[in-house]
Amino acid sequence: MKTIYSKKYSLHNSLTELSGGKLVKPFETSARVKFILNEISNRKLGPIIEAKDQDLDIIYKVHDKNYVKFLETAWDEWIKEGFKGEAIPTVWPSRSMNSKIIPNNIEGKLGYYCLANETSISQGTIEGAYESVKIALTAAEILQNEKSIFALCRPPGHHASNDQYGGYCFFNNIAIAAEKLIEEGAKKIFILDIDFHHGNGTQEIFYNRPDVYFASLHGDPMEAFPHFLGHADEKGIEDGEGFNLNCPLPRNTSYAQWRKSLIKVIDEVKTFCPDFFLISLGVDTFENDPISFFKLKSVDYFDVGRIISSLNLPTLFVMEGGYAINQIGINTVNILKGFEE
Ligand SMILES: [Zn+2]
Repeated sequence: MKTIYSKKYSLHNSLTELSGGKLVKPFETSARVKFILNEISNRKLGPIIEAKDQDLDIIYKVHDKNYVKFLETAWDEWIKEGFKGEAIPTVWPSRSMNSKIIPNNIEGKLGYYCLANETSISQGTIEGAYESVKIALTAAEILQNEKSIFALCRPPGHHASNDQYGGYCFFNNIAIAAEKLIEEGAKKIFILDIDFHHGNGTQEIFYNRPDVYFASLHGDPMEAFPHFLGHADEKGIEDGEGFNLNCPLPRNTSYAQWRKSLIKVIDEVKTFCPDFFLISLGVDTFENDPISFFKLKSVDYFDVGRIISSLNLPTLFVMEGGYAINQIGINTVNILKGFEE
């Protein structure tokens, strides 16, 4: 299997994350990519290819124009305001306020466009986010001639909605890849999100559409981030009704339990019969992940790959989360190797 990456994977290099009331070193770091690349080379998964320049206008099919403009200028505006730390919001348009107003001031704008403030914006964030989109688009392009491909995106994307960032995500890479495949003729896409966290951004983007089915296995939002989306009764609206499937799972979910939900989704994929199968690949379901609460073991990931491959569909894996850095390479490559068995 080919891997697409960008050598500029550390452009987004924030130094702070607000976690448990403290500013800590972010869990989502560029070292994640380094560990995955090393494992891909060591286990000879296949060629590692640099992402190509892409027409990035396709981003506007997924994201609001003003949101993109905000991301492009946020860091400069923050610095101009005289702030010394990295950019994080402190106020939001809460239920008791007017959520339709976009303030002029950067603090207000951050609150408007941010959905969770663990994610700092700093020098290079927007450039890094564009690199990640290029990876997803290059992979989508190559997938037309391959059985499967791995887009080693960083920063991840599945929490980014039409006009909000957070959960370490800025642009929704997998949604943009889906739009690219549709532009090139695909009629039906199935996106399966196996990251520990609910892919709220991807769900929101395709919630009223019947051509992109979104399914997610994740920590129950009553207990886990992003808390305000990802419940089992969210099934899509308008033409998209019936094309959204959430499987929230409890604390300490074992692989055997998790696998049952996976099989349920796989049956949906068979019925839907998509042209392409897209996987939001997070390995923060791992038992030792520092910010999650499932109990999957490294060896289980081979089986996940085998099950995904049993559908025999052109498959695009897009990297999302996974924060147990020492095992992130092993767990990711176990899925991809399992797929190839
Ligand atoms: Zn995650």
